[in-house]
Amino acid sequence: MKTLKPVFFVRSLEPFCCPCCRGEKATVIGSRNRKIIETSEGNPQTKTIRIRRLKCESCSRIHHELPGSVIPYKRHAVKSVEAVLEGNISLVIVENSTIRRWVSWFDGLTCHLLGVLNTMTKDNTVEKTPFPGTRLQRLRQYVGETTGWLSRVVHQAVKQNLWVQTRSAFSAG
Ligand SMILES: [Zn+2]
Repeated sequence: MKTLKPVFFVRSLEPFCCPCCRGEKATVIGSRNRKIIETSEGNPQTKTIRIRRLKCESCSRIHHELPGSVIPYKRHAVKSVEAVLEGNISLVIVENSTIRRWVSWFDGLTCHLLGVLNTMTKDNTVEKTPFPGTRLQRLRQYVGETTGWLSRVVHQAVKQNLWVQTRSAFSAG
């Protein structure tokens, strides 16, 4: 017997701002479904979310609206990845190899992300010298320590058009 999985419609609350040209107007030209695995609250659940495709009216580039629960190109919910990176491995039911992959993925990415966040805050004179602490602690000082920090970091990089897909560039496997 087939059961229908719920589809989540996602709409960003933030006004559109094109990562390429800073245009503020976009037309919705369609949507696509994306499966996402949530593992941080008990049994793994696959949810389907619907992501809107937007076309920037200034530069005509196509963008996908990114919900807070999603990391580009990752199948797992951002919450699960965040918990693992914080060392709360017991909260997340995934294979050890997946955990190792996430840690190594993030390890290859942190320097880049710190650079992105540092560039963004330069004008606001938030920090003249780099924050102390581990790279993870420093990242969290930029975006706030509370739950959801990974989502905030990812979204800042995406908004600046500085998100990098690391599989080929950094990942050790
Ligand atoms: Zn644009």
